[in-house]
Amino acid sequence: MKAGLLEQYNMEQRKSFSRSTSSSGLRPRRESSNSSRSSSSSRPRTGGASSGTSRSYSSSRQKTDATSAPRAFSSRPPLGRTFNASRGGSSRGSGKRGPRKGQHIDISRFINKTVITEEAVVFTPEHLFKDFIIDERLKANILTKGYNEPTPIQDRVIPHILHGHDLVGIANTGTGKTAAFLIPLINKVLANPKEKVIVMAPTRELAQQIEMELKGFVKGFKIFSVCCVGGAAIGRQISDLRYQHNFIIGTPGRIKDLIERKCINLADFKSVVLDEADRMLDMGFIHDMRYMLALMPKERHTLFFSATLSPEIGALIKDFLKEPVMVSVKTQDTSKNVEQDVVKIKSGEDKLEVLHDLLIQPEFKKVLIFGRTKHGVEKLAVALGKKGFKAQSIHGDKNQGQRQRALDTFKKGMAQILVATDVAARGLDIAGVSHVINFDIPETYDDYVHRIGRTGRAGQKGKALTFI
Ligand code: ADP
Ligand code: MG
Repeated sequence: MKAGLLEQYNMEQRKSFSRSTSSSGLRPRRESSNSSRSSSSSRPRTGGASSGTSRSYSSSRQKTDATSAPRAFSSRPPLGRTFNASRGGSSRGSGKRGPRKGQHIDISRFINKTVITEEAVVFTPEHLFKDFIIDERLKANILTKGYNEPTPIQDRVIPHILHGHDLVGIANTGTGKTAAFLIPLINKVLANPKEKVIVMAPTRELAQQIEMELKGFVKGFKIFSVCCVGGAAIGRQISDLRYQHNFIIGTPGRIKDLIERKCINLADFKSVVLDEADRMLDMGFIHDMRYMLALMPKERHTLFFSATLSPEIGALIKDFLKEPVMVSVKTQDTSKNVEQDVVKIKSGEDKLEVLHDLLIQPEFKKVLIFGRTKHGVEKLAVALGKKGFKAQSIHGDKNQGQRQRALDTFKKGMAQILVATDVAARGLDIAGVSHVINFDIPETYDDYVHRIGRTGRAGQKGKALTFI
């Protein structure tokens, strides 16, 4: 069964490989460990081949559990019906995402009750962290951080990045992409303390999260970073940039601002990472991204990470990467270890009441609720507060301090509920989210996948409910 799955996986890999090749006109170098691996048949090693494998970092088998179905929600809609999610007044920063609006989403795609009963294929990495040719001190820090073995994307991209190849890494959310680029880049900086790296991410929280992960890895080293994000005082960032730093991690808007103020000189940076490149495009950062890449030295090391590979990403890759290695460990379009269902709101029924009845159940311990607009999210958080729930909110109308505090409170378990917009929650890694509730239907299936990807992380099970 494993071998069968693996074959299927490899087929998919090849398909997506040739697709991306032809659509972008690239001649990507073949990812060697994929094609020439002799041990493939006996050692299934892909996270993507089966349910949740990419998330099971430990080598223990996921237990079968057919009994965990939640209480029956109101009757399912007929499968196959399509829902037109189009509506006006997008909350997403400025509605630059025109083409994605109004996608027809098949409601049956919000339901997935059976998957948890599947048995996960154990992922056996080809490398252990100790096998990588990296500084021993860095290895020690990785272990201290509790990472015992690489995730599939780490397993496959780290050797290439260590070789200095340009690379495109495609993998689902929650699969450890951050460490996949940070580890080899930190190693580069350890070898040459003058080395400078710039990492661009679509949202402030994500940039901060990347910096946190970096700080964990560089404990005790003389490696410094500056986090350049909007919403935080620029004066502080400007003065931090005057000190020695090896990493700049930030959002495109603020980085561009700092370049224009001559606080950042991109000519000094020989390595660049675009994290969540697809979402940066969606958020309208394409011009900023092109502007910045054009300012960088021609001889540089360029890495792209993304959950999807669109023609637009293909065009960027073609223009800015040199013979990139393409690594994809993405085969499932849904987080398969998330149990999914819909909650049908009957006419005359109050959505808020239905939500209330769910939230009072003991298993709804750490709940992330998605709303469509900033205003709606705020209103919902206040309404829940009035009903006695500990609810925080995170959206673009809040300043950085407020967003960070809300997130921290939720992360630490001091609030049961975090209400968020899609953009604010993008890429966030919050441990132990028990439920994701789509109070408003997501605009696109991509958004849906990203939303529910906030639960069921790191091999844990999660549940997602969509109000329809
Ligand atoms: P992505 O960027 O792909 O969405 P992240 O880099 O945010 O994923 O990682 C998801 C979670 O997995 C984080 O909590 C991270 O600490 C954890 N993680 C990453 N790599 C490993 C590893 N090798 N072993 C254990 N946990 C890991
Ligand atoms: Mg990430």
